[in-house]
Amino acid sequence: LRVRNKPWADGYIKAHADYIVIDPQNWLGKWQSRFEKSQPLDVEVGTGKGQFIIEMAKAHPDINFIGVELQKSVIATALRKFMTAPLPNLQFVLTDGANLDEFFHPDEVNKIFLNFSDPWPKKRHAKRRLTSPGFLKTYQTVLDPAGTIEFKTDNRGLFEYTLVTMNHYPMTFDYVSLDLHRSAENETNIQTEYEEKFSPNGPIYKLVAHFNA
Ligand code: SAM
Repeated sequence: LRVRNKPWADGYIKAHADYIVIDPQNWLGKWQSRFEKSQPLDVEVGTGKGQFIIEMAKAHPDINFIGVELQKSVIATALRKFMTAPLPNLQFVLTDGANLDEFFHPDEVNKIFLNFSDPWPKKRHAKRRLTSPGFLKTYQTVLDPAGTIEFKTDNRGLFEYTLVTMNHYPMTFDYVSLDLHRSAENETNIQTEYEEKFSPNGPIYKLVAHFNA
């Protein structure tokens, strides 16, 4: 996702420090204090413009959500959308998802959502894929042993790569769909911006998986 630099983003982020964190390492062990209630924590990595995580937070007031995004101008757009109707159970973090284990304690997270992650199709860029073994290791550290990863994409190559990489890790699949929008699960599916844009072109793939004990 390439976006133009947004000159207002810096000021907007600073002005809304109650809802967005730019120094996540300083919040290690203190995330629950940023929410109205202490309750289970779910994290999305690569939140983009925020539609999915905002709708999830609305639908699940009994869960706290954190949306992690690497690009300042993208997360500023998510924050602006969120500020039209702020919720007490959603926070944003501007940072690289590769560092989750530097700001979450082991087992602190219940679910990790990865939606339409950048495919990085070239083999030499494989390490940048959010489902590469290095990222999986980080997720394993912060996820509760009973926790799951939920991954959606329209990119068949990335989905195939993810099935093999998770299988080798090893992880176990709890759910796999090769056409989410025509499956029973679709009834409760919350769509992302990319999903809305690209689902007319072909199927949406989804998997849910957990780490083997
Ligand atoms: N999830 C959104 C959706 O489905 O509409 C956005 C998808 S977009 C293709 C991928 C997003 O992941 C981009 O906004 C990108 O900046 C973000 N991203 C990529 N690598 C990341 C990383 N290591 N940590 C956090 N965000 C990342």
